[in-house]
Amino acid sequence: MDTTHTMTIGGEPVAASSTFEVIDPATGAAFAGAPECSSEQLEGAMAVAQSAFETWRRDVEARRAALKRAVEVIEEHAQPLAEIVTREQGKPLASAAGEVKAATFWLSTYASLPLEVEVLHEEGDRRVELHRRPLGVVAAITPWNYPLAMAAFKLGPALLAGNTVVIKPSPHTPLSTLALVALLRDVFPPGVVNAISGGDALGARMTAHPAVRKISFTGSVETGKKIMAAAASDLKRVTLELGGNDPAIVLPDVDATEVAGKLYEGAFSNGGQLCVAIKRMYVHESIYGDVVASLAARASAVKVGPGMDDGVEMGPVNNRPQLERVRELVGDAERAGGAIHAGASLPEGDGYWFSPTVVSDVAEGVRLVDEEQFGPAVPVIPFSDVEEAISRANATDFGLGGSIWTSDVARGADLAGHLECGTGWVNQHPMLRPTYPFGGFKHSGIGVENGRWGLDELCQKQVINVRGG
Ligand code: NAD
Repeated sequence: MDTTHTMTIGGEPVAASSTFEVIDPATGAAFAGAPECSSEQLEGAMAVAQSAFETWRRDVEARRAALKRAVEVIEEHAQPLAEIVTREQGKPLASAAGEVKAATFWLSTYASLPLEVEVLHEEGDRRVELHRRPLGVVAAITPWNYPLAMAAFKLGPALLAGNTVVIKPSPHTPLSTLALVALLRDVFPPGVVNAISGGDALGARMTAHPAVRKISFTGSVETGKKIMAAAASDLKRVTLELGGNDPAIVLPDVDATEVAGKLYEGAFSNGGQLCVAIKRMYVHESIYGDVVASLAARASAVKVGPGMDDGVEMGPVNNRPQLERVRELVGDAERAGGAIHAGASLPEGDGYWFSPTVVSDVAEGVRLVDEEQFGPAVPVIPFSDVEEAISRANATDFGLGGSIWTSDVARGADLAGHLECGTGWVNQHPMLRPTYPFGGFKHSGIGVENGRWGLDELCQKQVINVRGG
């Protein structure tokens, strides 16, 4: 495996004249340098992606075979890939191994997803077909919470559809994506998959580049708005998977202790750094005290430490600005009268440590409730009437996911339908699959990823309307 942290442009390893530091969040110290892609290198990547498109677009079976081979190659290197994820992202090694598995699951699902030709009309000498054609060069831009899974979300459908890709990971987690694409240098024809690295300015240059026909972006709402504005200048297509502030609404008919364990996982998995983590809990007042106590006990018992250590359940926050943000939101909630429950002990040193924190006795109007925290702190809010809880949960610009927790499953499914969000879960949160469309209402996104719906967003629909001679 290429561990030199080079970019991949036209199937070749490419270093840069300057590098930027990659920080190990468990120590707060730089452990590697990633290439800072120059303007010339960006031009080079776009040019090879454009020229590779002409051949790559033609043969869907060759594309399926390459995707299948990519899965094999990634599986052969699963362990070193997981180690890179843990080192640069911070998550426990077992979770990083799970992320590699998710990446291969997504890619293998796309390898066999139908790319349908639909017959719209057939009568006499007339035949009308709907074809799915590729768009061209796709700019894929990803965040730092699940670098490999996010890469797979984007590469799978883009490549199956016949597009070529230039992918840029977050500057906080560039190395795993560079390593992933380096592994694929011999799997895809040169220029089909290119990986470049750099900061936010590089992302902005990609979105403004005239060769790009589609921007597939996952990240914050703020950046999503800038990308949509940049795309407007030459009408690039966009799919935007943005932030969330997912509510979980807990009805009085559940076992408080059992549900609290599941709620904890939904809120604190990946240290809460997950777009569809539970970010607000609305708990019925009759079980509120019991749920808060169970959540607090669970949070206090968590083993927090470096992701490489055995038995660690939660790693550090990925980066310093994010750590400061979570600290600020929890401090603000405390000043507003919130009760802080955070008993887990933290490692010594300069890592970006934050104890998993449950904040009770807060409500809307407090920043921790109204904003996306994207870290290991969750507000728990009491309610008395479920209809009112749903209105309060919906009173936000976010709309990614939401959940209802109840022993009355039919009622739960009905109530989940009243949540204004892309996925409504019952008695679980989150749960994603490569075959279910995933996206957000309101500011949480434009378009969807996954399944045939996600694939459609990487395709141009073309009607071939034939009449006999
Ligand atoms: P971010 O928006 O700061 O950065 C994401 C990526 O965009 C990075 O690669 C960054 O370099 C790039 N970027 C920044 N400015 C840019 C610009 N002007 N033009 C083009 N690219 C630019 O987000 P983040 O902090 O890395 O990730 C956290 C956010 O991502 C959270 O809001 C989270 O909810 C969201 N997220 C959403 C999903 C989803 O599927 N909906 C999944 C994971 C994370």
